[in-house]
Amino acid sequence: MALEVGAVGFGFYDLRAVEKEGPIKGRIRLWLQGERAMGLSALAVRMVEAGAGFVAEAAGVGRGVVGKTRERAKPRELGSSGEDSREMAAGECKGAGEAKQAVVAMFVGGGDGPISGPGLPREEKIRLLSAMDEKEVKGCRKCGLSESRTHTVFGEGDREAEIFFIGEGPGESEDLSGRPFVGRAGQKLDEMIAAMGLRRDEVFIANIVKCRPPGNRAPAPEETGACTGYLVRQLEIVRPKVIVTLGLPAARYITKLELSMGRMRGEWHTWRGIKVMPTYHPSYILRNYSMEIRKAVWSDLQKVMAELGLKGKRV
Ligand code: SF4
Repeated sequence: MALEVGAVGFGFYDLRAVEKEGPIKGRIRLWLQGERAMGLSALAVRMVEAGAGFVAEAAGVGRGVVGKTRERAKPRELGSSGEDSREMAAGECKGAGEAKQAVVAMFVGGGDGPISGPGLPREEKIRLLSAMDEKEVKGCRKCGLSESRTHTVFGEGDREAEIFFIGEGPGESEDLSGRPFVGRAGQKLDEMIAAMGLRRDEVFIANIVKCRPPGNRAPAPEETGACTGYLVRQLEIVRPKVIVTLGLPAARYITKLELSMGRMRGEWHTWRGIKVMPTYHPSYILRNYSMEIRKAVWSDLQKVMAELGLKGKRV
């Protein structure tokens, strides 16, 4: 297996350590070090051979994409040597399978440093998110909200969305359906998304808690504390370019600021290197249907659109 190293001068690599750890584990460690230090897109490493091909593609390097900040994964191009990722997932490439498992193990929950680069291939994002929902969230009993819920509400949308909307928690309609933002507030959010020139399935939507607080009360700190690990992992996997928080609890959780919504909204914040725009919750817009509130929300969304180069459309 050959390893082409283009960033030795940056001092991130110790190839002797790679030899000691074994080729796949060592290369993954180097990749993660580079990611933490300077971002995947700047990591000039190319791994050549089937076993490491998965890692190289996950890092967005090795196929002439160094320097790009984001590129949607193309399933037929993910594997090396012409193999596609489904074949790898089926275990036809033992080395790639080992690499994938190691990447996954090290990728999720990997600290609280900045997140950059495209992250995992699309198929792997889908697999990880589905596994988290099916094996962890749906049966979760980590807090008292599990007692009164009908369904957990994991979240939904494009696994490679550039925009990740975060609300507070499921309401009655969401609890009954198991889907986020499907009631009247959901319709308003759909309008906001359409106004940005996007479809609902082109963004990702989730909440800070996955079970409905009784009576639609705000989630208690211990409930938020128990649940937000899921949200953090969702964000780590999806890796949006922009997070839009909807309402005060989501804004405060993500920004770690105890400010009013009036002071937080309209200004850019960051969460682990990802830009964050707090705005009003659609329910609040419906309850306070004034020109002032609607103008404020539209102003916030326009900033997001400008950041992402979206043209949008008025609805
Ligand atoms: S709110 Fe979150 S932590 Fe609490 S039971 Fe539901 S999924 Fe688990």
